[in-house]
Amino acid sequence: MSKPSPILSGLQLKCGNCGEGKLFRSYLKLNDSCPVCGREMTNEDTADGPAFFVGFGVLILAAPFMFIVPMIPMPLGFKILAFLVMSAIMIGLILAALPIAKAVLLNLQLHHGAEEAHFGKEDDGA
Ligand SMILES: [Zn+2]
Repeated sequence: MSKPSPILSGLQLKCGNCGEGKLFRSYLKLNDSCPVCGREMTNEDTADGPAFFVGFGVLILAAPFMFIVPMIPMPLGFKILAFLVMSAIMIGLILAALPIAKAVLLNLQLHHGAEEAHFGKEDDGA
């Protein structure tokens, strides 16, 4: 049995080992292990990687509108309303994309065996 693509399984929020089990037990809380194949996920940590990529991506999408809307000749009330709508869309995009980005990064980490850097000898400090 070949392993599924870490990116495709991450986009579906599924385990990158079996492609079947769900990664999350709630919005961004990982399962302790895959419910299907039992892969351990307690020590996995994507840190702030997903937030960085999602925030940066949404910012790039939204930035042109943040410059264009103030230059459009329309009453101030409409501009404020446009900014509120844009902010709601940005927050919605971020909240929707965060679990997907976390799942993809987690599956990529596990696929490539990424772990914390170790410096020096393994048994020092004893
Ligand atoms: Zn699995």
